[in-house]
Amino acid sequence: MSNPSILILPGDGIGPEVMTEVRKVITWFGEARGIQFDVSEDLVGGAAYDKHGVPLADATMAKAQEVDAVLLGAVGGPAYDNLDFSVKPERGLLRLRKEMDLYANLRPAQCFDALADFSSLKRDIVAGLDIMILRELTSGVYFGEPRGIFEEGNERVGINTQRYTESEIERAARSAFELAMRRNKKVCSMEKANVMESGILWREVTTRVGQDYPEVELSHMYADNGAMQLVRAPKQFDVILTDNLFGDILSDCAAMLTGSLGMLPSASLGAPMANGRPKAMYEPVHGSAPDIAGQGKANPIACILSFAMALRYSFDMGDEADRLEGAIEKVLADGARTADLLGEEGVDPISTSEMGDAVVAALQAGL
Ligand code: NAD
Repeated sequence: MSNPSILILPGDGIGPEVMTEVRKVITWFGEARGIQFDVSEDLVGGAAYDKHGVPLADATMAKAQEVDAVLLGAVGGPAYDNLDFSVKPERGLLRLRKEMDLYANLRPAQCFDALADFSSLKRDIVAGLDIMILRELTSGVYFGEPRGIFEEGNERVGINTQRYTESEIERAARSAFELAMRRNKKVCSMEKANVMESGILWREVTTRVGQDYPEVELSHMYADNGAMQLVRAPKQFDVILTDNLFGDILSDCAAMLTGSLGMLPSASLGAPMANGRPKAMYEPVHGSAPDIAGQGKANPIACILSFAMALRYSFDMGDEADRLEGAIEKVLADGARTADLLGEEGVDPISTSEMGDAVVAALQAGL
């Protein structure tokens, strides 16, 4: 079988800086573990606009459709703020998500023990936390028609439509159950079936899909209660399945349980390709951080953890993903901190590249 293929799109701002550190990790896996990836690299966002006049060239889009996984840094920056909407850096990202039909957005909320004091919640509520939010990404109220601002009598009315087909719910639900099978076999589905018909259908379809996964314990929760439970007792969850709108809010809330933006990875998955692997794009949650770009201050861990998700979800290399996450845990436990993770007295920050080197050293030490 050919090597797994990865298209790296570093993007703008700190994107290329953190991606350089991911490359070190990929090289280590090749040299030390004999796991070779076919890696290619291209432009996205402002960097693509500078070269091609568009935030994602057609040829890059075509490449993204062919590879096993896309790894993206971040896009955007002040130089591009005044561009026409159609060529803004973010449009490149949206085009990738849309044309690859990435309907399942995975956002883990994982609390490394060494960073538990960074959370705004008490240590014992978040220490050891490891939950996954699966947000449906391509439908729901952000896309439903009719939408717009209309005249009605002597005033205007703003309209958005929450709309889900059974098949859209089903494929998201199936992804959640598949995920749960690789984890602790629990899915909690969140909607508002008490006040929304789309919620009633959501509950019906997830229950039906759940029958195909008898080993997985399925529960349902109203999304407002879900928000409360996330800050009250987040460790009760394993996989949370929810729609686009609730997922937008709940995943941000869950993410912040664990501290810094520089630590948060994400994955967006679509339908399986001919080789059985899902269409996939992995990216840190953070943006291009123009305020620290070019200064060697960025924390590369979110991007490295995104690669760990690729190992797990695209390449079925769960053990190697564990190895990488374990190395990061060790580096943090040993006290290595980029500037965004400072808080303790008397700790000097290390640079982006020093953090990448520390992760590679911990991988090597763990062999
Ligand atoms: P941001 O995530 O870039 O930065 C927010 C704050 O967090 C900044 O103070 C930044 O320095 C800090 N930060 C972010 N990532 C960090 C890291 N890895 N290490 C250390 N500190 C980190 O969000 P913003 O400032 O609102 O947006 C900046 C630009 O990024 C804008 O152009 C925005 O449109 C774009 N953006 C892109 C994405 C994406 O590519 N997915 C996401 C969000 C924002």
